[in-house]
Amino acid sequence: MLKVFWFRKDLRLKDNKTLLEFIDSVGVDDSFLFLYIKNKNSYKYFGEKRIAFLHECIFELGIELEKNKLKLNVLSGSSEEIFRNLINKFGKTEVFAGRQIEPFCISRDNKNKKLLEENSGRLNLIEDINMVPFNESVKDNGTPYTVFTPFKNKFLRILSPVHYAESKVNLSKLNRKNELQLNNNFDFESEYKKFDKSGFLKGGRSNAVVLLNYFFKSKIKNYAVDRDFPAIEGTSLLSAHLHFGTISIRECFRAYKEAAKDTKGTDEIYKWREELIWREFYYSITYHFPHVINSAFKKDYDKVKWNYDKRMFKLWCEGKTGFPIVDAGMRQLNKEGWMHNRVRMIVAMFLTKDLLIDWRWGEKYFAEKLIDLDFSSNNGGWQWSASTGCDAQPYFRIFNPYLQSKKYDSDGIYIKRYVPELTNVKTKYIHNPSEMPAAEQSACGVIIGNDYPAPIVNHSEVSKIAIETFKNIKNKP
Ligand SMILES: Cc1cc2nc3c(=O)[nH]c(=O)nc-3n(C[C@H](O)[C@H](O)[C@H](O)COP(=O)(O)OP(=O)(O)OC[C@H]3O[C@@H](n4cnc5c(N)ncnc54)[C@H](O)[C@@H]3O)c2cc1C
Repeated sequence: MLKVFWFRKDLRLKDNKTLLEFIDSVGVDDSFLFLYIKNKNSYKYFGEKRIAFLHECIFELGIELEKNKLKLNVLSGSSEEIFRNLINKFGKTEVFAGRQIEPFCISRDNKNKKLLEENSGRLNLIEDINMVPFNESVKDNGTPYTVFTPFKNKFLRILSPVHYAESKVNLSKLNRKNELQLNNNFDFESEYKKFDKSGFLKGGRSNAVVLLNYFFKSKIKNYAVDRDFPAIEGTSLLSAHLHFGTISIRECFRAYKEAAKDTKGTDEIYKWREELIWREFYYSITYHFPHVINSAFKKDYDKVKWNYDKRMFKLWCEGKTGFPIVDAGMRQLNKEGWMHNRVRMIVAMFLTKDLLIDWRWGEKYFAEKLIDLDFSSNNGGWQWSASTGCDAQPYFRIFNPYLQSKKYDSDGIYIKRYVPELTNVKTKYIHNPSEMPAAEQSACGVIIGNDYPAPIVNHSEVSKIAIETFKNIKNKP
């Protein structure tokens, strides 16, 4: 029988549950191969910086396999087409892959499962993206949580070392003579050259390990405070690596446990643990409530009369709203394929409450730009900000972008980094340059409406409209 290991969101050899099961299943008479499938269709939704990052991950994975005298076969095409060819050529085929929970992945996997089973093979999907399995992180009566704090409490109550133990992979168990090496129909290096490599993050497991070590050496001490200040690089920057699985969630959690041991578990460290649990929470939401893929978690909020003003949306996308903190965030996203978490919340709240634009437009724009795009965290973050989601920000609590800016970027360091035309604006005016008197504008060389836009909306007026819009929905039968 042919056994295939299909790398998807677990681009690593270390601490890989699926790989462990795969190796254990390969019998002496079985042939085997390692596969990555490059599907053109799924690439078209993502930004170039993310694809460059992904290529770096795959490239390094190939090298790691080579060091173990194994080959990563990279094939371009649809998975169904590729498995059909493998079955035709080699007969019965059993595939191992990490389980994905997004509805579009599930429907692809169902088709592959059917194809393999019809030909006496199998598709084994192993849960590896999360620590606590989805069927365990539920209420005692078996129903899923929809609010974060009880989810977290249950999660911590049942979490045991079994959930974060390393899946120790031993590649030397595989008999190299039984390995099949295919002709890659895809030239990775020349493809990679085409993409924009100016992203903020570099892919590949070696970079993930550097980030993890650096975080625990230098950042964790101040994480609880620093994490909210976008001018400070106070967070781990591991999200894209966690998404593509160059590092496992268990590895991150073990690092946290180790650090917590030394510092007797200070609050700072607990805070990081909480962020990892948010990730698991949003995964569990997608898993149990797949309707969130294109509709509000709270179905009532699908009745919101969103604004579909393309001109306003474009100004938001380009970072030309006249709200410096929003513009800085959007320009960071466009330039680096990354945005600080606090600013993600601010720009998302601004789009959905100040501009009343459909959160799905914002979600899609993020998906096209973010290197760390993860369907569940992105959807969860957007629905939280739009107040349409589970455990979301209540609709009447709208971020004031000026106050957020004053609180989290008081000296405007972050703003000036991404909105350079405001470099000479005094700190007093940096959060709302339109308040500068004419003489001040001339003195610092920033004429509002000319060098920098006037605010495209009046925040206090539009937030009242947003509250009314949402209140009406709540009151509708
Ligand atoms: C509108 C919006 C969209 C978002 N889109 C994404 C996305 O596409 N992909 C993504 O990974 N995160 C997303 N987030 C969550 C968060 O912004 C990022 O995970 C975080 O900024 C990544 O930085 P870090 O790795 O340095 O995080 P750290 O602060 O070091 O946190 C450690 C890890 O915990 C997880 N995490 C942290 N915060 C959250 C959160 N709020 N929700 C879920 N998981 C979290 C991430 O995996 C992160 O790497 C979004 C948030 C908002 C408000």
